[in-house]
Amino acid sequence: MSLELLVPATLKTLIDPLSQKDIISAGVVQGLTITHEGKVSFSLEVNTEYMKEGIKLKEKAESLLSQIQGISGIQIALTTQRKVHSNTPLRKGIPEVKHIIAVASGKGGVGKSTTAVNLASALAQLNLKVGLLDGDIYGPSLPRLLGISQKPTSDDGKMINPIIAHGLKCMSFGLMIGEKMPAIWRGPMVQSAFQQILWQVKWGELDILVLDLPPGTGDIQLTLSQRVLLSGVIIISTPQDLALADARRGLEMFRKLEIPILGLVENMSYFLCPHCKGRSEIFEHGGVRKEAQSLGIRLLAEIPLHMAIREASEKGTPIANSETPESMVYHALAQKIWENLN
Ligand code: ADP
Repeated sequence: MSLELLVPATLKTLIDPLSQKDIISAGVVQGLTITHEGKVSFSLEVNTEYMKEGIKLKEKAESLLSQIQGISGIQIALTTQRKVHSNTPLRKGIPEVKHIIAVASGKGGVGKSTTAVNLASALAQLNLKVGLLDGDIYGPSLPRLLGISQKPTSDDGKMINPIIAHGLKCMSFGLMIGEKMPAIWRGPMVQSAFQQILWQVKWGELDILVLDLPPGTGDIQLTLSQRVLLSGVIIISTPQDLALADARRGLEMFRKLEIPILGLVENMSYFLCPHCKGRSEIFEHGGVRKEAQSLGIRLLAEIPLHMAIREASEKGTPIANSETPESMVYHALAQKIWENLN
């Protein structure tokens, strides 16, 4: 194959973390030139906010191209010309917070909050400074899952102090207004409440802030993704097809918004019997894995349906805080995510 075909085909194997498309189709590679002598040059156009990912892409491209026979020189310029979306308002981070990740699901009841709480707790056990924001305005579950009920305080009447529980800095609408949301809170009010809580909590220095998003793909998720500089999103799905179809909708939304998809987590993947310790595939197993493959995203974890996980949640102590076999899956998930971000 000639270099004119081989070089773009090789570059096509690299995925742009922003759009999740290959870097040629995503327009990240610009000005590709291949001389008669086999000198290859081009620029990689990334966004300033995604410079770190850009550096990784450049290294990967260099390494792949250097293995092709006939290439005598490689010159890759990394530029920050690229616009995320011309009509997207600027995304903001939080001072002193290194990474903000969102935990999303296409619908409720799939174990999104359980996963978010256990993931945050497992990340904290990696010696990271972790925050957790329960963004489920209509059904906040963090107070219950972490066993906290105290009302948040403020030193200056402006910034809210997070509640420290199980080594996490936490905040939830449930702590501020009780578990029942006034029904008149709709649309824009809810969106502004979400942003207020996000930026008005005194998070301090954090390695990672985990946002437990409300279920679905409504306006709250959309606005949040457009305003907040997310390092990535994790999508939680159960094995049933319906949940998958919902998860796929979520995935499409985040892709359109060019939020890096860290991967999919299959929750209630199989049943672990607390008595006989046997494993039963109550749903057809492997569906989410296949789906993840065909969608080109990683399957980050397969979490079993286990009584101990629910019981720990009910006691207000995340299972990830215990040294049980059931907690291991969350530790492996946390490890993968942290590696992925760095
Ligand atoms: P969501 O946030 O998606 O609405 P929750 O995290 O509140 O879902 O979980 C719904 C219910 O399922 C809760 O009772 C929770 O304890 C239970 N649950 C979630 N994941 C598991 C699991 N892997 N094993 C056992 N029970 C689970």
